[in-house]
Amino acid sequence: IAKQKGRNIFKWYETGMSKNEDEKLQIEHYLRKAIENNEFELYFQPKLNLFSNRINGVEALLRWNNPVLGMVPPDKFIPIAEETGFIIQIDEWVLEKACQQSKEWFLLDPDNPVSIAVNISPLHFRIPNFYYIVEKVLKETGLNPSLLEIEITENSIIENTEECIVCLEKLRTLGVSVSIDDFGTGYSSLNYLRKFPISSLKIDRSFIQEVSQNRENVAIVKAIMSLAQELKLKVVAEGIETYEALEILRSLGCDEIQGYLISKPLPVQEFQNMFSQRSPIL
Ligand code: C2E
Ligand code: MG
Ligand code: MG
Ligand code: MG
Repeated sequence: IAKQKGRNIFKWYETGMSKNEDEKLQIEHYLRKAIENNEFELYFQPKLNLFSNRINGVEALLRWNNPVLGMVPPDKFIPIAEETGFIIQIDEWVLEKACQQSKEWFLLDPDNPVSIAVNISPLHFRIPNFYYIVEKVLKETGLNPSLLEIEITENSIIENTEECIVCLEKLRTLGVSVSIDDFGTGYSSLNYLRKFPISSLKIDRSFIQEVSQNRENVAIVKAIMSLAQELKLKVVAEGIETYEALEILRSLGCDEIQGYLISKPLPVQEFQNMFSQRSPIL
């Protein structure tokens, strides 16, 4: 686990340092204490199942509100957390909170469980005990493993293939599902799709956003859909912002969609209000 580097916080006053470098050091500094100072919060973005037209799951997305830096977006702090190794503790925190939350929803309304997807950094697959962490968190929270989904990117997989297969096999045996996030943007060959026990593909939003104006994007999405059908994988489309995009994805047989059209990521209470209304979404 990440060793404290003992970096001096005043370092950002050094001359000749670029503004980006400053910012990075500040983020790194405050990130160290973010968990113990209770600065993280999970937001939940609903996933709509296009067959039942119901919300049956959410993705947990991390939000960081620091008293000095304000709200720092994940695209800014996650890469730094990965570089420093803090991401290991951060993702574990997220995993635990997310499983607790899904379990809480289950207890409130056992007939309408909400599955929870958690983003896991590629770094976890370099340390041998990721599987045991998942097992431990499930045991402690009492969450049914079938309600947990792990999102990983293609890059996680290629880095240490053999160990990764073993870990994913064990997760599958446990009943946890694994999906490939940002599918289509990695550098990997498609070969891994045959070897890895994954259950769904999440098409990256860059292919979705202009899908109604852009024939190349339609072609790519269609190709992903038929690949998934052949391999018996579920398909989730992220970044759905318009009805046009929704209808295209529906007509192509997409299983689930996620995006601002349905809802932005919401704090827990707002999500619960939305979910409990149970009105037809679309
Ligand atoms: P991601 O996992 O691909 O998450 C989807 C991102 O797209 C989220 O950004 C979400 O708010 C945004 N999004 C969803 N629907 C739409 C839409 O319709 N339009 C647009 N323009 N954007 C949409 P967010 O929350 O800023 O997270 C960014 C990335 O940070 C995530 O991408 C994920 O890779 C990473 N991340 C977030 N939380 C965690 C975490 O707990 N652990 C790790 N390791 N990474 C995380
Ligand atoms: Mg994700
Ligand atoms: Mg994604
Ligand atoms: Mg992403």
